[in-house]
Amino acid sequence: KLASREFHPQNSVVDVAGIKIGDGTPVVMAGPCAVESKEQLFEAADIVKAAGAQFLRGGAYKPRTSPYSFQGLEEEGLKYLAEARERTGLRVVTEVTTVEAIESVVKYADMLQVGARNMQNFGLLKEVGKCGKPVLLKRGLAATIDEWLNAAEYIMNAGNPNVVLCERGIRTYETYTRNTLDLSAVAAVKHLSHLPIIVDPSHGTGKWRMVKPMAFAAIAAGADGLMMEVHPNPAKALSDGPQSLTPENYQEVMAGIYKLSQFM
Ligand code: PEP
Ligand code: MN
Repeated sequence: KLASREFHPQNSVVDVAGIKIGDGTPVVMAGPCAVESKEQLFEAADIVKAAGAQFLRGGAYKPRTSPYSFQGLEEEGLKYLAEARERTGLRVVTEVTTVEAIESVVKYADMLQVGARNMQNFGLLKEVGKCGKPVLLKRGLAATIDEWLNAAEYIMNAGNPNVVLCERGIRTYETYTRNTLDLSAVAAVKHLSHLPIIVDPSHGTGKWRMVKPMAFAAIAAGADGLMMEVHPNPAKALSDGPQSLTPENYQEVMAGIYKLSQFM
């Protein structure tokens, strides 16, 4: 299999517009859950840039549990992301939820995110496999590691070798956390596959207080990077406020990651 370590013994390094993922230096993708307005996104981008991330994240197409929740700014949100990249030099990663939206996301973003809810949307996987840009593939809500690696296989088999995996927690019987962050998946994937893997402790826990310890643990476990939600004012966030870091919390997490990376 294309994603397997047997097929490709060395670690793959995925280059996203000049930023290398998987070369030993952890990368950080941070930003709001959703692009809510130009002002909110620019404020978040400035905070994220100042504390040292390489990527700005933010959803323009939001896969929400309820159809009555904020669904995202769609193409307008993509334009703000591209403007935020011009402003900060950060690379942009954003989710694509449908085949129809691939073309616009490719136009504005550096990396396409396939969300947990679409991990087994095989039609979407095949199309992002042909899109020409690197893909961040999140683990499905209830996907085994084998199913997840097979999802990567769909993208690679369609012609796109630039796949980065993202562990974001799986559904278990535990209800205290939003998901159960499976950090053992990092070690498993490193053994089974050559693909880079990052960890999202924001969706993985659902609680901003748990983001720092799980981010540190992810780096210690060998993750190639982190995805974290940061909002200028989490209390006012249109989605995922409870798991979003304030600017101050984010700076603290980044300072800790920098220290930790000195030991790795
Ligand atoms: C996200 O990162 O915005 C997101 C919706 O995450 P997930 O697909 O992991 O739930
Ligand atoms: Mn979110």
